[in-house]
Amino acid sequence: MKAQPEASHFIDGAFVEDKAGAPLEVLHPASGEVIARLHAATPALVDRALNAARRAQADWAARLPVERGRILRRAADIMRERNHELSVLETLDTGKPLQETLVADATSGADALEYFGGFAPTVTGQTVPQGRDFIYTLREPLGVCVGIGAWNYPTQIICWKTAPALAFGNAVVFKPSELTPLSALQVAAILTEAGLPAGLINVLQGFGDLGAALVSDPRVDKVSLTGSVPTGRKVYAAAAEGIRHVTMELGGKSPLIVFDDASLEDAVGGAMMANFYSSGQVCSNGTRVFVQRGMKDRFLDRLTARTEAIRLGDPLDEATQMGPLVSEAQMQKVMGYIEGARTEGARLVTGGQRLNRPGYYVAPTVFADVTDDMTIAREEVFGPVMSVLDFDDEDEVIARANATEFGLSAGVFTQDLARGHRVIGRLQAGSCWINAYNLTPVEAPFGGVKQSGVGRENGHAALEHYTQIKTVYVGMGPVDAPY
Ligand code: NAD
Repeated sequence: MKAQPEASHFIDGAFVEDKAGAPLEVLHPASGEVIARLHAATPALVDRALNAARRAQADWAARLPVERGRILRRAADIMRERNHELSVLETLDTGKPLQETLVADATSGADALEYFGGFAPTVTGQTVPQGRDFIYTLREPLGVCVGIGAWNYPTQIICWKTAPALAFGNAVVFKPSELTPLSALQVAAILTEAGLPAGLINVLQGFGDLGAALVSDPRVDKVSLTGSVPTGRKVYAAAAEGIRHVTMELGGKSPLIVFDDASLEDAVGGAMMANFYSSGQVCSNGTRVFVQRGMKDRFLDRLTARTEAIRLGDPLDEATQMGPLVSEAQMQKVMGYIEGARTEGARLVTGGQRLNRPGYYVAPTVFADVTDDMTIAREEVFGPVMSVLDFDDEDEVIARANATEFGLSAGVFTQDLARGHRVIGRLQAGSCWINAYNLTPVEAPFGGVKQSGVGRENGHAALEHYTQIKTVYVGMGPVDAPY
């Protein structure tokens, strides 16, 4: 099984290799087999990429927005045509089942390219009358934007950052996660094939030190990170040194509240989507499932039956519903949380063990009788581990749901829509669902509050994060000077 790209990096319109960089092996998480050997970017390549981006950006910003948009929309079409091969690559790289990658990764990346391609020509400024004079505003690009990705949605992450950046006239240097470096190279190649001029999209491989070097480089105007809160703290601080713009898409420990009037099947299905998709490696997951006491037994019975029916196996088999975790280290971390939950007194309802096969598989796991003080109710696990907590009334559950430093997402299941809106209105979270979970179409702004992040991706909101406003005051008459 090979997924070796033409070269490790994509710089100034072409694949580039420099074997002097530290080796970076890419493993298939379902087998542990090496599927590609890359090298981290050397300082010389970082220089080339940043200089290319700076050089190309000014011409790009001067292009007609409709032309920029056309290139992005062409890239979206190519991605859709190649969805199958891109999905197989994503599955090899991340271990996520093909059943998911076929519908969630290159397709959502293509949606972002199409959406922002169409958005580009609609961007306008304002005019502000000032009596005889007037003011107008222009939306200008920021310049060179650095994107740094996590390993759970590699194709989607590069597209969610690159599509708005390019649409609004910026250039991009992207560093994928060292665990899943492959698909970003293909996205860069596809954009170039679609007509994107050289230098506007550059992909550099490397570890945290490369990310840190990019964030503090004076040639960089903006940094958008998708990653954990601890990394976010470092990146935000380093960006602050240079007063650079930031978007921080960080982790969560999101609440999903199930009232006892909810549809049982929908609530169970929602909770499973909120915990088991991508083997639980989703930032917005609703990992604290608060179930009202009147529903608890029915909920756990149905949840157990449906969870035990999940088909785990070879992620390349389209019948497989759940694959492995991304790496051995992530699997060990998740197993550590499972052991800790048992020790702290949570009741294991199902799962809790590794699978007896090669690869980094952990069975979908449900703990009941979880209390707010337990480690699995406070820390992000990033694996297929659901915590079910009991509650009695609305005020109580809202206070408990909000008692966390995170604030990425929240969900409510209830048939009483007035209550649904009332509860969501009081939850401290950026991305919320009522009677649904984890749907993130490109039209919807996405991001967190509190320590889960700063800024928003997608929707009209992305304009704020990839442009800046120039204000022009126009004097129409004699200058009224007091001297
Ligand atoms: P991570 O924080 O370990 O790494 C993220 C990226 O940052 C990687 O590319 C890494 O190489 C880089 N990095 C590490 N140290 C750095 C430094 N000092 N300076 C610059 N870059 C550095 O995260 P991960 O383990 O890859 O991903 C999982 C985390 O990402 C989870 O916490 C998850 O919730 C979060 N996540 C958030 C979103 C969102 O949109 N909010 C989406 C997906 C994942």
